[in-house]
Amino acid sequence: MRCEEVQERLSALIDEQLSQTEREQVLQHLYACEACSREYQELRRFVEFCRQLEAPEPRIDLWREFQPMLAEIIAEQRLPFAQRLRRQWSRLVSQVCYGIILFLQVVTYQLTITLSRYIVEPERPAYGRSAQG
Ligand SMILES: [Zn+2]
Repeated sequence: MRCEEVQERLSALIDEQLSQTEREQVLQHLYACEACSREYQELRRFVEFCRQLEAPEPRIDLWREFQPMLAEIIAEQRLPFAQRLRRQWSRLVSQVCYGIILFLQVVTYQLTITLSRYIVEPERPAYGRSAQG
């Protein structure tokens, strides 16, 4: 079995959904292959972590929102390097755009405050105040 094939079956192995033969093949590969073995350990640790999270009753259903994000992060980590880089790049670009928008808003706000000193407001009738105030 090739590494790819083994890695595709790792979660099935953890969930005990492999046939006896497949299971043996995967385990044999894991004994021999350090990379897959590491992958397996990580996945297992993650699954255990998830089970621990699932165990207590969720007071606020954060998990439901959190899980897809986590799944996305993990899926992304399995992508080939170039693809991952491209995704990270596009995310960076959108974050930079948000940053620019935020920055412009702050600048505009500051500018409004600064300029408002120079704007002479039309005189309004002074309700409840003395005319000289
Ligand atoms: Zn392998």
